[in-house]
Amino acid sequence: MVDRHIAWIGLGSNLDDPAGRIRRGVAEIAAAPGIELLAVSPLYRTAPVGGPAEQPMFCNAAAVLATELTPHALLDALQAIEAAHDRVRDVRWGPRTLDLDILAYDERRLDDRDLCIPHPRAHERGFVLAPLADIAPALRLGAHGRVIDCLARVARDDIQLWETSP
Ligand code: ATP
Ligand code: CA
Ligand code: CA
Repeated sequence: MVDRHIAWIGLGSNLDDPAGRIRRGVAEIAAAPGIELLAVSPLYRTAPVGGPAEQPMFCNAAAVLATELTPHALLDALQAIEAAHDRVRDVRWGPRTLDLDILAYDERRLDDRDLCIPHPRAHERGFVLAPLADIAPALRLGAHGRVIDCLARVARDDIQLWETSP
């Protein structure tokens, strides 16, 4: 890999075998050209935040990867994987087979129409921060500071490890 960048990805699914979707999504990211998977968090079961009131619990995880892709090329690669999981965007924050967000990319800050890095809502979401803290506690989310400090500021009531939850 000539040009090596580090990117942190948030994964989420609440439709059609969420844990299986997350595991497959991780494998597909690892197999994508220009991407080397470095680590994956445990899977979490989390309550839906925002969007329609009645929707299934989510499975969430985070991954860190090395990549030679630019942020936009990485977003394209992630969206191609989402599309292969028949991801449909109709209801905002609605149920989804697979959601892959770029949480951070090196120490880059981007505020484009189609790509904001660090992810603008990562710092306030327990379902993003809990898995991310397992693999990158000291990662800084721009002005919001370290992942573990952001996590300490949010509610964790509805976030459990997937394996140990009912
Ligand atoms: P949220 O962004 O609040 O987590 P979402 O993941 O449900 O909501 P999507 O419908 O998956 O939203 O994405 C909408 C658009 O967000 C994407 O088409 C993409 O262009 C844009 N986007 C902006 N910043 C990012 C980022 N850091 N990672 C992924 N997508 C992003
Ligand atoms: Ca998202
Ligand atoms: Ca998304």
